[in-house]
Amino acid sequence: MRVPPPEFDPVTHAATTDFVGVASEGTVVSWTWVPEPVKAQPLDHPFAWALVKLDGADTAIMHAVDVASNDAIHTGMRVRIRWAAERVGAITDIACFEPADTAEHSESFSADEGSAEGVTGVITPVSLDYVYAASPEESAFFRGMAEGRILGQRCPVCRKVYVPPRGACPVDGVPTTDEVELAGSGTVTTFCIVNVPFLGQRITPPYVSAYVLLDGADIAFLHLIQGIDAHDVRMGMRVEAVWKPREEWGTTIENILHFQPNGEPDAAYETYEGHL
Ligand SMILES: [Zn+2]
Repeated sequence: MRVPPPEFDPVTHAATTDFVGVASEGTVVSWTWVPEPVKAQPLDHPFAWALVKLDGADTAIMHAVDVASNDAIHTGMRVRIRWAAERVGAITDIACFEPADTAEHSESFSADEGSAEGVTGVITPVSLDYVYAASPEESAFFRGMAEGRILGQRCPVCRKVYVPPRGACPVDGVPTTDEVELAGSGTVTTFCIVNVPFLGQRITPPYVSAYVLLDGADIAFLHLIQGIDAHDVRMGMRVEAVWKPREEWGTTIENILHFQPNGEPDAAYETYEGHL
């Protein structure tokens, strides 16, 4: 008997058809200690990850066991489920495991308990944290940002200016070593109007995301256009960077809040057609 149930037996490949209830109490088969929990783990204080074989099951499930220290858990230890305060029909209904009180008897469930309606969706919250290591040229770019400067690099062969700098010219395959400081003004080459709301969006649609070709640069820079109705944004429109207040600057491109029209006449198509 496997918990959680797979659709097919991994050994015989036969479909598993019979649901059976197992106990909410079981035995620790193996465990490891987590001295420093990270975000989104089941507990915010040190705990153990353990393989727990629930009574009645033949396989173990992995979950957190809430014990005070790594001296308070051992293989063969009896543990039981601590249910979440609110159960919604997800694996997260199991908040964690805790040492089983021998005086308390294990509750068990039969398979036909609850609704016979099939579960049509499962909510699985996931998150991903990662550390981005900036290359030397990106580091220079971000340090420039912290000083309110936009730094690019020029290819010594084709003379193209890349911003943010890539460290090498993809056309000539040579290092781009010359640093070039760019103006905060430029031309909208292409753009899109974002009308669709999505999770984590910080601006209310509709808004414009555009490629801005900074004056002196050869590749466009993706940023937001504000200070104008989304439907009035156009190719060739001249714009300028709007920076956050000086005291809020850091080593991030977010120091530039957005770009806005700078009042200059639109640039002729020929001036940016090679940069689309
Ligand atoms: Zn080049």
